[in-house]
Amino acid sequence: MASDEPPVIVIGAGIAGACCAHALAADGRAVVVIDENEPGSGCSYGNAGQFNLGTTLPIALPGMWRQVPKWLADPLGPLAVRWPYLPRAAPWLLRWLWESRRARASRHSLALQALMAPCHDAYRAMLGPEAAGLLVQSGHLHVWERAHQTDGDRLSLAMLADKGVHPQPLDAGAIREIEPALAPIYQRGLFFPGNGFTTNPARLVQTILRRSGATLRAERALGFERQNNEIKAVRTNAGTIPCAGVVIAAGHASRELAAGLGLRVPLEVERGYHAMLPTPGVSLRVPVSNNEHTFVATPMEHGLRFAGTVEIAGTAPPPDWRRSDILLTHATRMLPGLNTATPSRWMGFRPSFPDSLPAIGRVPGLSNAIAAFGHGHYGISLSPMTARIVADLVAGRPPAIDPLPYRPTRF
Ligand SMILES: Cc1cc2nc3c(=O)[nH]c(=O)nc-3n(C[C@H](O)[C@H](O)[C@H](O)COP(=O)(O)OP(=O)(O)OC[C@H]3O[C@@H](n4cnc5c(N)ncnc54)[C@H](O)[C@@H]3O)c2cc1C
Repeated sequence: MASDEPPVIVIGAGIAGACCAHALAADGRAVVVIDENEPGSGCSYGNAGQFNLGTTLPIALPGMWRQVPKWLADPLGPLAVRWPYLPRAAPWLLRWLWESRRARASRHSLALQALMAPCHDAYRAMLGPEAAGLLVQSGHLHVWERAHQTDGDRLSLAMLADKGVHPQPLDAGAIREIEPALAPIYQRGLFFPGNGFTTNPARLVQTILRRSGATLRAERALGFERQNNEIKAVRTNAGTIPCAGVVIAAGHASRELAAGLGLRVPLEVERGYHAMLPTPGVSLRVPVSNNEHTFVATPMEHGLRFAGTVEIAGTAPPPDWRRSDILLTHATRMLPGLNTATPSRWMGFRPSFPDSLPAIGRVPGLSNAIAAFGHGHYGISLSPMTARIVADLVAGRPPAIDPLPYRPTRF
């Protein structure tokens, strides 16, 4: 490659952009990452930090819609909708229902696994010695207060078995052995021994970016200059940056940017919340998913984080901090002796497609513009493999895995 070749520009310095920058730079490309905000300060800041080796399922599952009225009616429930936004979200929600049918959900589940499975090793490779303290492979505990399995539980287990994932089933005693800090109220559990987490999602992004050697520019991408079927430059609030290619990894804002290139996608924002306790007074050995209230408790560098819930409201309204407080209410029941003093609260925009898969691939009609966005609930788990596919496409190599399930034009 000629040394005076313009850089590949990655738009967005979240986990997706950081991993893409790293993979492209490892291929010998000059890379410029543009983001007017601090790296890792978007949705990648406040998540639960879990990375799964294919052990999670798409969010839209068969029969799940039956739970929606109950969730919406419960003021402490995991789902909220701001009704004025409903007409805008309706097409996405209908597509979500369509994607929840068994055959489709099973296909999405396998496609998620293909993207997730290698993430731990990929992070280790990207982080080198800096993985120590930042990545923990402790396994992940899921717990239920009810002893019986619902049809949905049985279906989830069957879908996991279909991809060769067989978590350890646990009774009340075994749960307490793995995590003694939990209240003795949980009757049933599952343990996923291979899963892990990051102790600081923002630091994860920043470390990967720094180690990539990419140049960071604190600018906002506004549009593109194209000639025939090529992007020649990215226009920003500070000027124009010539480029050899562009990767759109701007989280929820990718929808607008992609639309500017003629690619229209049903990318919706699922707002999620966390509450973080700096001095929780109890410590967890492993992250715990509370499966009845659908949130995760993760022991992080700066305290104990409770993250989850979905709010459909778009990006405009201010956060509803009651959603963070709900997490603390559940956490107090979960962990006796929890010190809930001085919590910090956070809200982030999950960039989500109805099928829980990201958009990875070339933007139609352009030889050098690539989509790498829409990682929804699983951006930490999915971004390393996303980046490998992006680097393969830029290099003209056959992609590491079949990219068809993630094509940006699938809707
Ligand atoms: C409560 C919660 C818990 C979660 N838990 C987990 C978990 O345990 N495991 C997991 O795998 N995932 C989890 N997720 C999902 C994960 O956080 C997201 O999938 C991931 O952070 C998305 O990363 P991103 O890089 O696409 O977006 P972001 O992190 O939002 O980054 C996008 C970046 O693009 C920048 N940008 C936007 N527009 C422009 C522009 N025009 N020009 C330049 N830059 C721009 C933004 O400033 C931002 O920095 C969770 C999410 C939430 C909300």
